[in-house]
Amino acid sequence: MEVLTTIAAIRNFVMAARRQGKSIGLVPTMGYLHEGHLALARKAREQNDVVIMSIFVNPTQFGPGEDLECYPRDLERDQKLAAGAGVDAIFAPGAEEMYPPGYATYVQVEGLTEVLCGASRPGHFRGVATVVSKLFNIVQPDRAYFGLKDYQQAVVIKRLARDLNFPVDIITIPTVREADGLALSSRNKYLSPDERRWALALYRALNTGAALIRSGERRAAVVRDAMAQEILSRPRTRIDYVAVNDAETLEPLDEIRGRVLLALAAWVGETRLIDNMIVEVKD
Ligand code: AMP
Repeated sequence: MEVLTTIAAIRNFVMAARRQGKSIGLVPTMGYLHEGHLALARKAREQNDVVIMSIFVNPTQFGPGEDLECYPRDLERDQKLAAGAGVDAIFAPGAEEMYPPGYATYVQVEGLTEVLCGASRPGHFRGVATVVSKLFNIVQPDRAYFGLKDYQQAVVIKRLARDLNFPVDIITIPTVREADGLALSSRNKYLSPDERRWALALYRALNTGAALIRSGERRAAVVRDAMAQEILSRPRTRIDYVAVNDAETLEPLDEIRGRVLLALAAWVGETRLIDNMIVEVKD
Protein backbone atom coordinates (compact mmCIF):
# COMPACT_ATOMS: atom_id res chain seq x y z
CA MET A 1 0.00 0.00 0.00
CA GLU A 2 1.23 3.47 -0.88
CA VAL A 3 1.02 6.52 1.37
CA LEU A 4 0.95 9.71 -0.70
CA THR A 5 0.95 13.20 0.74
CA THR A 6 0.92 15.46 -2.32
CA ILE A 7 -1.82 16.14 -4.85
CA ALA A 8 0.69 15.56 -7.67
CA ALA A 9 1.57 12.09 -6.33
CA ILE A 10 -2.03 10.92 -5.91
CA ARG A 11 -2.89 12.27 -9.39
CA ASN A 12 -0.02 10.20 -10.83
CA PHE A 13 -1.22 7.14 -8.95
CA VAL A 14 -4.78 7.66 -10.28
CA MET A 15 -3.53 8.27 -13.83
CA ALA A 16 -1.56 5.02 -13.85
CA ALA A 17 -4.65 3.09 -12.68
CA ARG A 18 -6.85 4.80 -15.28
CA ARG A 19 -4.43 3.93 -18.08
CA GLN A 20 -4.95 0.29 -17.16
CA GLY A 21 -8.72 0.81 -17.35
CA LYS A 22 -9.20 0.31 -13.60
CA SER A 23 -12.19 1.58 -11.63
CA ILE A 24 -11.50 3.68 -8.55
CA GLY A 25 -13.30 3.82 -5.19
CA LEU A 26 -12.63 6.66 -2.73
CA VAL A 27 -13.16 6.46 1.05
CA PRO A 28 -12.79 9.92 2.63
CA THR A 29 -11.94 9.89 6.36
CA MET A 30 -10.31 11.96 9.08
CA GLY A 31 -8.33 8.91 10.21
CA TYR A 32 -7.97 7.27 13.62
CA LEU A 33 -9.64 4.36 11.90
CA HIS A 34 -12.21 2.07 13.46
CA GLU A 35 -14.48 -0.69 12.16
CA GLY A 36 -16.88 1.87 10.62
CA HIS A 37 -14.12 3.22 8.38
CA LEU A 38 -12.93 -0.31 7.61
CA ALA A 39 -16.45 -1.40 6.62
CA LEU A 40 -16.43 1.45 4.08
CA ALA A 41 -13.02 0.31 2.79
CA ARG A 42 -14.16 -3.30 2.46
CA LYS A 43 -17.27 -2.24 0.54
CA ALA A 44 -15.06 -0.17 -1.78
CA ARG A 45 -12.72 -3.18 -2.14
CA GLU A 46 -15.66 -5.34 -3.32
CA GLN A 47 -16.83 -2.83 -5.90
CA ASN A 48 -13.65 -1.33 -7.40
CA ASP A 49 -10.31 -2.33 -8.90
CA VAL A 50 -8.45 0.30 -6.88
CA VAL A 51 -9.31 1.66 -3.43
CA ILE A 52 -8.02 5.03 -2.25
CA MET A 53 -8.60 6.21 1.32
CA SER A 54 -8.05 9.84 2.20
CA ILE A 55 -6.98 10.66 5.75
CA PHE A 56 -7.25 14.38 6.37
CA VAL A 57 -8.38 16.21 9.50
CA ASN A 58 -10.02 19.00 7.54
CA PRO A 59 -9.58 22.32 9.35
CA THR A 60 -12.38 24.10 7.44
CA GLN A 61 -15.07 21.84 8.91
CA PHE A 62 -14.14 22.63 12.53
CA GLY A 63 -15.56 25.71 14.23
CA PRO A 64 -13.68 27.95 16.68
CA GLY A 65 -13.39 26.20 20.05
CA GLU A 66 -13.99 22.75 18.54
CA ASP A 67 -11.56 19.82 18.79
CA LEU A 68 -9.39 20.38 15.66
CA GLU A 69 -6.09 20.47 17.61
CA CYS A 70 -6.78 17.48 19.84
CA TYR A 71 -8.61 15.34 17.25
CA PRO A 72 -6.97 11.88 17.56
CA ARG A 73 -4.31 11.12 14.93
CA ASP A 74 -2.21 7.96 14.43
CA LEU A 75 -1.15 7.51 10.80
CA GLU A 76 1.07 4.53 11.53
CA ARG A 77 -1.78 2.56 13.09
CA ASP A 78 -4.15 3.71 10.32
CA GLN A 79 -1.76 2.39 7.66
CA LYS A 80 -1.83 -1.12 9.10
CA LEU A 81 -5.61 -1.14 9.45
CA ALA A 82 -6.20 0.29 5.97
CA ALA A 83 -3.82 -2.21 4.37
CA GLY A 84 -5.67 -5.04 6.16
CA ALA A 85 -8.97 -3.81 4.71
CA GLY A 86 -7.58 -3.84 1.16
CA VAL A 87 -6.80 -0.16 0.63
CA ASP A 88 -4.30 0.38 -2.23
CA ALA A 89 -3.27 3.94 -1.45
CA ILE A 90 -3.72 6.40 1.39
CA PHE A 91 -3.88 10.06 0.47
CA ALA A 92 -2.79 11.98 3.58
CA PRO A 93 -2.07 15.60 2.65
CA GLY A 94 -1.08 18.31 5.10
CA ALA A 95 -3.38 21.30 5.60
CA GLU A 96 -1.11 23.53 3.43
CA GLU A 97 -1.34 21.09 0.53
CA MET A 98 -5.14 21.34 0.51
CA TYR A 99 -5.43 25.00 1.54
CA PRO A 100 -2.35 26.91 0.29
CA PRO A 101 -1.93 30.61 1.12
CA GLY A 102 -4.59 32.65 -0.67
CA TYR A 103 -7.12 29.81 -0.66
CA ALA A 104 -10.54 31.47 -1.20
CA THR A 105 -13.09 29.05 -2.70
CA TYR A 106 -15.84 27.27 -0.76
CA VAL A 107 -18.83 25.09 -1.62
CA GLN A 108 -22.15 25.80 0.07
CA VAL A 109 -25.09 23.37 -0.11
CA GLU A 110 -28.15 25.39 0.89
CA GLY A 111 -31.23 24.30 2.85
CA LEU A 112 -30.14 20.79 3.86
CA THR A 113 -27.24 22.26 5.85
CA GLU A 114 -29.35 24.71 7.85
CA VAL A 115 -30.86 22.11 10.22
CA LEU A 116 -29.52 19.49 12.70
CA CYS A 117 -25.69 19.59 12.87
CA GLY A 118 -25.67 22.49 10.40
CA ALA A 119 -27.63 24.64 12.85
CA SER A 120 -25.40 23.85 15.83
CA ARG A 121 -22.08 23.86 13.90
CA PRO A 122 -22.22 26.91 11.60
CA GLY A 123 -19.81 26.49 8.68
CA HIS A 124 -19.30 22.77 9.32
CA PHE A 125 -20.98 21.54 6.13
CA ARG A 126 -19.37 24.31 4.07
CA GLY A 127 -16.04 22.80 5.13
CA VAL A 128 -17.23 19.25 4.43
CA ALA A 129 -18.69 20.14 1.00
CA THR A 130 -15.52 22.02 0.08
CA VAL A 131 -13.08 19.28 1.03
CA VAL A 132 -15.20 16.52 -0.53
CA SER A 133 -15.45 18.54 -3.77
CA LYS A 134 -11.68 18.95 -3.76
CA LEU A 135 -11.16 15.22 -3.14
CA PHE A 136 -13.59 14.38 -5.97
CA ASN A 137 -11.63 16.66 -8.32
CA ILE A 138 -8.24 15.33 -7.20
CA VAL A 139 -9.09 11.60 -7.27
CA GLN A 140 -11.98 11.57 -9.78
CA PRO A 141 -13.34 8.31 -8.33
CA ASP A 142 -16.07 6.19 -9.92
CA ARG A 143 -17.59 5.63 -6.49
CA ALA A 144 -17.23 7.33 -3.12
CA TYR A 145 -18.20 5.79 0.21
CA PHE A 146 -19.88 7.43 3.21
CA GLY A 147 -21.35 6.10 6.47
CA LEU A 148 -24.93 6.67 7.55
CA LYS A 149 -23.63 7.38 11.06
CA ASP A 150 -23.29 10.90 9.59
CA TYR A 151 -26.71 10.77 7.95
CA GLN A 152 -27.00 14.48 7.21
CA GLN A 153 -23.50 14.50 5.70
CA ALA A 154 -24.46 11.65 3.35
CA VAL A 155 -27.59 13.52 2.21
CA VAL A 156 -25.61 16.74 1.71
CA ILE A 157 -22.93 14.96 -0.34
CA LYS A 158 -25.48 13.21 -2.56
CA ARG A 159 -27.02 16.62 -3.30
CA LEU A 160 -23.60 18.18 -3.88
CA ALA A 161 -22.62 15.44 -6.36
CA ARG A 162 -25.91 15.84 -8.20
CA ASP A 163 -25.94 19.65 -8.23
CA LEU A 164 -22.31 20.06 -9.34
CA ASN A 165 -22.45 17.13 -11.81
CA PHE A 166 -19.62 15.13 -10.26
CA PRO A 167 -19.56 11.85 -12.23
CA VAL A 168 -19.37 9.75 -9.05
CA ASP A 169 -21.76 7.27 -7.44
CA ILE A 170 -22.26 7.98 -3.76
CA ILE A 171 -22.50 4.70 -1.84
CA THR A 172 -23.64 4.61 1.79
CA ILE A 173 -23.27 1.93 4.45
CA PRO A 174 -25.19 1.37 7.72
CA THR A 175 -23.80 2.55 11.04
CA VAL A 176 -21.33 0.14 12.62
CA ARG A 177 -21.90 -0.20 16.39
CA GLU A 178 -20.20 -1.65 19.44
CA ALA A 179 -21.78 -4.83 20.84
CA ASP A 180 -23.92 -2.75 23.25
CA GLY A 181 -25.13 -0.38 20.49
CA LEU A 182 -22.84 2.66 20.83
CA ALA A 183 -22.04 3.96 17.33
CA LEU A 184 -18.33 3.72 16.58
CA SER A 185 -16.65 7.12 16.39
CA SER A 186 -13.06 8.34 16.57
CA ARG A 187 -14.33 10.71 19.30
CA ASN A 188 -15.29 7.77 21.56
CA LYS A 189 -11.61 7.83 22.52
CA TYR A 190 -12.31 10.98 24.54
CA LEU A 191 -14.77 9.17 26.86
CA SER A 192 -13.83 8.13 30.40
CA PRO A 193 -15.12 4.69 31.50
CA ASP A 194 -18.11 6.35 33.23
CA GLU A 195 -18.85 8.52 30.19
CA ARG A 196 -18.60 5.47 27.95
CA ARG A 197 -21.48 3.93 29.93
CA TRP A 198 -23.56 7.12 29.90
CA ALA A 199 -22.97 7.51 26.15
CA LEU A 200 -25.15 4.48 25.55
CA ALA A 201 -28.09 6.79 26.30
CA LEU A 202 -27.93 8.05 22.69
CA TYR A 203 -28.63 4.62 21.22
CA ARG A 204 -31.21 3.91 23.94
CA ALA A 205 -32.98 7.19 23.09
CA LEU A 206 -33.17 6.24 19.41
CA ASN A 207 -34.62 2.86 20.32
CA THR A 208 -37.12 4.49 22.66
CA GLY A 209 -38.23 6.81 19.85
CA ALA A 210 -38.45 4.00 17.31
CA ALA A 211 -40.45 1.80 19.71
CA LEU A 212 -42.94 4.61 20.39
CA ILE A 213 -43.48 5.12 16.66
CA ARG A 214 -43.88 1.40 16.05
CA SER A 215 -46.47 1.26 18.84
CA GLY A 216 -48.52 3.88 16.95
CA GLU A 217 -47.39 7.25 18.33
CA ARG A 218 -47.59 9.85 15.55
CA ARG A 219 -46.90 13.08 17.47
CA ALA A 220 -43.29 14.03 16.82
CA ALA A 221 -43.16 16.21 19.96
CA VAL A 222 -44.05 13.24 22.16
CA VAL A 223 -41.34 11.12 20.54
CA ARG A 224 -38.78 13.93 20.89
CA ASP A 225 -39.60 14.38 24.59
CA ALA A 226 -39.24 10.66 25.31
CA MET A 227 -35.86 10.59 23.53
CA ALA A 228 -34.67 13.67 25.45
CA GLN A 229 -35.73 12.12 28.78
CA GLU A 230 -33.65 9.05 28.04
CA ILE A 231 -30.52 11.17 27.53
CA LEU A 232 -31.09 13.48 30.48
CA SER A 233 -31.52 10.49 32.81
CA ARG A 234 -27.70 10.08 32.70
CA PRO A 235 -25.29 12.28 34.68
CA ARG A 236 -23.05 14.80 32.87
CA THR A 237 -25.08 14.66 29.63
CA ARG A 238 -26.33 17.72 27.76
CA ILE A 239 -28.57 17.77 24.69
CA ASP A 240 -27.53 19.69 21.57
CA TYR A 241 -30.57 18.59 19.56
CA VAL A 242 -33.15 15.84 19.44
CA ALA A 243 -34.90 15.69 16.08
CA VAL A 244 -37.74 13.82 14.41
CA ASN A 245 -37.39 14.92 10.79
CA ASP A 246 -38.29 13.89 7.27
CA ALA A 247 -35.52 11.52 6.10
CA GLU A 248 -35.32 13.08 2.61
CA THR A 249 -35.82 16.83 3.14
CA LEU A 250 -34.42 16.78 6.72
CA GLU A 251 -37.25 19.18 7.70
CA PRO A 252 -38.70 18.79 11.23
CA LEU A 253 -42.02 16.93 11.40
CA ASP A 254 -45.11 17.65 13.51
CA GLU A 255 -46.89 14.49 12.48
CA ILE A 256 -44.89 11.33 11.89
CA ARG A 257 -45.27 9.85 8.39
CA GLY A 258 -43.19 8.19 5.67
CA ARG A 259 -39.45 7.71 6.16
CA VAL A 260 -38.54 9.37 9.42
CA LEU A 261 -35.09 10.35 10.66
CA LEU A 262 -34.58 10.17 14.42
CA ALA A 263 -31.38 12.09 15.05
CA LEU A 264 -29.59 13.45 18.06
CA ALA A 265 -26.48 15.17 19.21
CA ALA A 266 -25.48 15.29 22.86
CA TRP A 267 -22.49 16.10 25.01
CA VAL A 268 -21.34 13.37 27.34
CA GLY A 269 -18.93 15.19 29.61
CA GLU A 270 -16.94 17.35 27.17
CA THR A 271 -17.48 15.07 24.16
CA ARG A 272 -20.13 15.81 21.56
CA LEU A 273 -21.56 12.62 20.04
CA ILE A 274 -24.17 12.10 17.31
CA ASP A 275 -26.32 9.16 16.30
CA ASN A 276 -29.43 8.51 14.22
CA MET A 277 -31.92 5.88 13.13
CA ILE A 278 -34.39 5.66 10.24
CA VAL A 279 -37.94 4.46 10.94
CA GLU A 280 -40.38 3.78 8.14
CA VAL A 281 -44.08 4.40 8.76
CA LYS A 282 -46.34 2.69 6.26
CA ASP A 283 -49.77 4.15 7.21
P1 AMP B 1 -14.76 10.53 9.86
O1 AMP B 1 -13.38 9.98 9.89
O2 AMP B 1 -15.43 10.61 11.20
O3 AMP B 1 -14.88 11.80 9.05
O4 AMP B 1 -15.63 9.47 9.06
C1 AMP B 1 -15.26 9.05 7.77
C2 AMP B 1 -16.37 8.24 7.18
O5 AMP B 1 -16.63 7.12 8.01
C3 AMP B 1 -17.69 9.01 7.06
O6 AMP B 1 -18.32 8.65 5.85
C4 AMP B 1 -18.46 8.52 8.24
O7 AMP B 1 -19.85 8.59 8.06
C5 AMP B 1 -18.01 7.08 8.30
N1 AMP B 1 -18.24 6.54 9.64
C6 AMP B 1 -17.81 7.05 10.82
N2 AMP B 1 -18.25 6.28 11.86
C7 AMP B 1 -18.99 5.29 11.31
C8 AMP B 1 -19.73 4.19 11.84
N3 AMP B 1 -19.80 3.96 13.15
N4 AMP B 1 -20.37 3.37 10.96
C9 AMP B 1 -20.31 3.61 9.64
N5 AMP B 1 -19.63 4.61 9.07
C10 AMP B 1 -18.99 5.45 9.90
